[in-house]
Amino acid sequence: MCGIFAYIGSNSNAPNLVLSGLKRLEYRGYDSWGIAGQANNKIFVQKRAGKISDAKLFLPACNTAVGHTRWATHGKVSNINAHPHFSTDKSFVVVHNGIVENYLPLKKSLINKGFKFVSETDTEVIVRLVESYRRNSNALLDAAKKAFLKLSGRNTIILLAKNGDVIAIRNGSPLVVGINKSSNEVFFSSDTLSFADKVELCAVVQNGEILSYQNGSKIVAFNILTGREASLEWLPLNFAGADVGLEGFPHYMIKEIKEIPFVVKQITKINKKDYLYLAKQIKKAQTVYTVGSGTTGIAAAQIAFYLRAFANINAISLVGADANEYLPLITQKDLVIVPSQSGETADVLEFLEKVKKSKVKIASLVNMPGSMITRLSDFKFMNDAGPEICVMSTKVFVSQISWGYLVAKTVSGKYSEGMKNLNTLSQVSGKYLSNKKISATIRSLAKVVSKKADIFLLGKADNFQIAKEAMVKIIEGSYIHAHAIPSGDLKHYAITLMEKGMLVIAIVPQDSLKSDVLNAVDEVRARGACTVGVSTQSYEGFDHFLPVPDCGEVNSIINIVPFQLLAYYTAVKLGNNVDRPRNIAKSVTVK
Ligand code: GLU
Repeated sequence: MCGIFAYIGSNSNAPNLVLSGLKRLEYRGYDSWGIAGQANNKIFVQKRAGKISDAKLFLPACNTAVGHTRWATHGKVSNINAHPHFSTDKSFVVVHNGIVENYLPLKKSLINKGFKFVSETDTEVIVRLVESYRRNSNALLDAAKKAFLKLSGRNTIILLAKNGDVIAIRNGSPLVVGINKSSNEVFFSSDTLSFADKVELCAVVQNGEILSYQNGSKIVAFNILTGREASLEWLPLNFAGADVGLEGFPHYMIKEIKEIPFVVKQITKINKKDYLYLAKQIKKAQTVYTVGSGTTGIAAAQIAFYLRAFANINAISLVGADANEYLPLITQKDLVIVPSQSGETADVLEFLEKVKKSKVKIASLVNMPGSMITRLSDFKFMNDAGPEICVMSTKVFVSQISWGYLVAKTVSGKYSEGMKNLNTLSQVSGKYLSNKKISATIRSLAKVVSKKADIFLLGKADNFQIAKEAMVKIIEGSYIHAHAIPSGDLKHYAITLMEKGMLVIAIVPQDSLKSDVLNAVDEVRARGACTVGVSTQSYEGFDHFLPVPDCGEVNSIINIVPFQLLAYYTAVKLGNNVDRPRNIAKSVTVK
């Protein structure tokens, strides 16, 4: 799930333009980076393992350049494995996003043909394969096409030749192209955000399309299989807030948590007609499947919960990576709902492509403009939450579940009540986030959490997925093992682990479920565990109390906020890389 970027234009500072694009793509992978620039019929490469923020470029003036931020899938994080990868004769380089699933047999046969490999990556197979096709003909475009057709998996590549030609091919992993007509510049990237301030128009490259730029001429797009010219759909790029500065905050995570009141408001600004139309489709559907991965998988489960609880809809949530299991059961009478930050999550996309073929209708809520998931959808919603840069999702999760809540309320005929509750949530969360006492309480709790090796989180009904998301935030930010469990299930197994020193955080509602959760709190406390209650009211069984404001029906939405803050302060306390936790990337575009 790396980021790829390319620049073609008259600016001789191409390597630096690519570097600034890559910095905006760093959320996609940050174990290594590399840039290749072309000048005077030569390619100059600089690449290394490590953070791109520390990069200092030594490349000469070039008008064309490509770059890559890597999230290693095959081959360790090292200078050699970093992209771009050179052809043996140094006549072209390749940057790649994806996994060549058949790289082993391809590699074996290329070795048998005498090709030498210098890296451990699957990407190098693409380079050698192009070289092997070039043995018969000199045309790079033709060789690239033939090589690409041999690859299995979801792959996107950009080739840069020493004469300045650029070839980009997409199949699966994202690729967008942007142009600035006035300055005659072309940008390729994994997302639109990375070049939002530099282009006037952008287009999403479709699966199976090749874009070829031959030095001095125009970009041509065509279909790799049919050879027919493809028409790119150019759209004006308007991503409010594309400026992704920290604005005085020490980390993006805290900046984005503080944007929660704004993102909730954005959900209330979506046209009422769109909610009503979607509600109609939901009522018509036999089963509604919600799908997502990671934090968004939890949002998908919460959306399904709201649909069941508020609107009596038969809604089932699926985890992206395992959603295919349900394919035999999904029919045209069903509806698939997909929240997605990037709109490019590989496992979700693969599932959607399959359901689309069976003519199942798809509704989506996506934050990044110009994504593949939006394109595949019949009912398209946008979060308009502004860029989320921290790898840990906070504001977009809240935005997704707020949307799901309003959708469910609309289905039940209570759109106005839903709107009222979300407006209150937006206001109340603003006050909560600026409350210094709350922030001090959470900081001191972060000190306790940072010393633990294991933490349990308890929740019930609409708060169970919230407990799960709290678990995800703690694991991601602090690398501490956390385990979320429905409070009622505790006594069936996890109670064996309750002893002195164990930390248990419970989300306690004030409705009819209150006593069930409090029973679990008392049970773990009786066995020596230290308890933390997240609730609107204190209770003598809490060793620590983390108050949340009373927002009635939408309490489960605000309940995630103290956990996001807790994960933030714990990560800071531990000295972890808050915005870029180890080993994970934000937009998982490889399977
Ligand atoms: N499979 C390639 C590698 O490991 C690209 C990884 C990616 O797309 O993140 O270098």
